[in-house]
Amino acid sequence: MPLKFCSLASGSSGNCYLIKNQRSALLVDAGISGKKILEGLTATDTPESHVKSLLITHEHIDHVKSVSVLAKKLPGISIYANEATWEGIKKPVPPQQQRFFQTGEDFYIDDFMIRPFSIPHDAADPVGFSIYCEDRQISIVTDVGCITEAIFDEIVGADLLLLEANHEKEILLMSRYPYHLKHRILGDKGHLSNVSAGECLCRLTRTIDKPRQILLGHLSHENNDPAVAMLTVKNTLMEKNIIPGGQLKLGIAMRDCMSYIYEV
Ligand SMILES: [Zn+2]
Ligand SMILES: [Zn+2]
Repeated sequence: MPLKFCSLASGSSGNCYLIKNQRSALLVDAGISGKKILEGLTATDTPESHVKSLLITHEHIDHVKSVSVLAKKLPGISIYANEATWEGIKKPVPPQQQRFFQTGEDFYIDDFMIRPFSIPHDAADPVGFSIYCEDRQISIVTDVGCITEAIFDEIVGADLLLLEANHEKEILLMSRYPYHLKHRILGDKGHLSNVSAGECLCRLTRTIDKPRQILLGHLSHENNDPAVAMLTVKNTLMEKNIIPGGQLKLGIAMRDCMSYIYEV
């Protein structure tokens, strides 16, 4: 049964991803309007009754904006987050729709095995997710200051990886952002740069050379641009003699429009 992935939106103005097979679907983050999420379900031919769960990475508003709305509009949905993240979500969700997971502990929803793993970011207990179905793996890692060894181990087997490429460092340094904000973004608990994303992909390919779909996501509106992100990542790969386009397919998860529906 094919496993499908679609980014409904990705970036500092809102994140939401859809993962599904023929029987069941789940959402990761709800940082765009409930209306847009429902439109995304229609556009991807996903019956609302299939969407039984929403997984939350962390409590920042670009990831949780519409949790309350979605809980109302999809009364059959369960919303999963760890305890510290729930404490940080200042939005009402009926207790019967709240579910708790432990960071680092696998759990199951329908045909999917979910593994939430810890990532360094300035939130209460932020996580990335790997979603496994049969022998396929989809991983989502954004809002991450750096790729630790533990994160690398979680994503090295991914068939599809949505990886943050937040900013071009030189553009960020020249931007009008105040010093403390630049410092925060560049720090180990901030956001991943285009070069760091490229370096991570080099290492993934060197470790396990297999067909992969990579989507660069959570691009900054101010300090990045899809063409810049793509160019920097490609250059970083080519410096290490890795030619993108063969085993490693690169795409961008845009901030304001849906991606293709990828099948892994
Ligand atoms: Zn974010
Ligand atoms: Zn964040």
